[in-house]
Amino acid sequence: METNVPSGKRVLVTGGAGFIGSHLVDALAPDNDVVVLDDLSSGDRANVHDDAELIEGDLRDETALDEATDGVDLIYHEGAVVDVSDSVDDPVGSNAVNLDATLGILERARREDARVVLASSAAIYGDPESVPVDEADPKTPSSPYGVQKLAVDHYARVYHDLYGLETVPLRYFNAYGPRQGGSDYAAVISVFLQQARDGGPITIEGDGEQTRDFVYIEDVVRANLLAATTDAVGEPFNVATGEQTTVLELAEAVKEATGSDAEITHVDPRPGDIRHSRASVSKARDGLGFEATVGLDEGIERLVESR
Ligand code: NAD
Repeated sequence: METNVPSGKRVLVTGGAGFIGSHLVDALAPDNDVVVLDDLSSGDRANVHDDAELIEGDLRDETALDEATDGVDLIYHEGAVVDVSDSVDDPVGSNAVNLDATLGILERARREDARVVLASSAAIYGDPESVPVDEADPKTPSSPYGVQKLAVDHYARVYHDLYGLETVPLRYFNAYGPRQGGSDYAAVISVFLQQARDGGPITIEGDGEQTRDFVYIEDVVRANLLAATTDAVGEPFNVATGEQTTVLELAEAVKEATGSDAEITHVDPRPGDIRHSRASVSKARDGLGFEATVGLDEGIERLVESR
């Protein structure tokens, strides 16, 4: 699928040393002047493309934000405290990064008249009443992280409606791929992969019948590139495949891809775990021209090959 990559622009990618941000930088760096703002708290300097400028700084630091946004045409805001349990342990601290600093980004985008594509999340839907969830469905986030992302998502719309800022919040479902950290639920694939390679066991929390919508990093990047030029600004889009996979199926797929005979075992379910998550993808298809192209088996295979 052909996607126009922005060119000749000054682009800021916050969180550009992290999983999603660094892949985005790889796609943008050849044709744009790319600056990364990242404090390397969960990201890694080695992920940052050689042609991008890394400002090692904190999103909460006004001076770092001023420097990073100076003269930008386009901002991808990926930097965040992404671990849900960190937000449970420290709602105030995570809010300062995930919400207050996002306002800092939006204010500077107004000053620079820059488009902002923001990382929202499926976490804003909480445990959905039914699947697939479409963008207008009820939002009942079940963690401070989810509340913070919901506020980010609303602010993106409000900044568009009030100030005419071009904003595009993208609600990622469970992204996966190379360079993903292993600390939270979204990284369940990385955890299973490591367990399979270590000879097992592969540990499933609960009965394994819970479902997720796993979307490969290449598709996540493409959704972001499309968001740079879409006319559909000021409104959110799910970024997902529209397919659901049980965690048990995932464990089997990882075993298959690695040729592992690791045993699959079950441990206690995670308290408050979401039972089913799957996106409606029609709005992204119609509004953004986005459709995921990498299926789970292929994605896992590529991930296995990359390590
Ligand atoms: P990640 O942890 O790999 O990337 C986040 C980056 O932000 C890291 O490089 C980290 O060092 C940086 N960062 C954190 N706090 C910072 C601060 N105070 N100042 C500057 N930089 C800071 O996570 P990711 O999976 O790449 O997530 C990218 C974005 O996508 C996040 O906003 C996350 O909430 C969102 N998201 C991810 C998923 C997923 O499945 N991976 C799903 C939904 C939403």
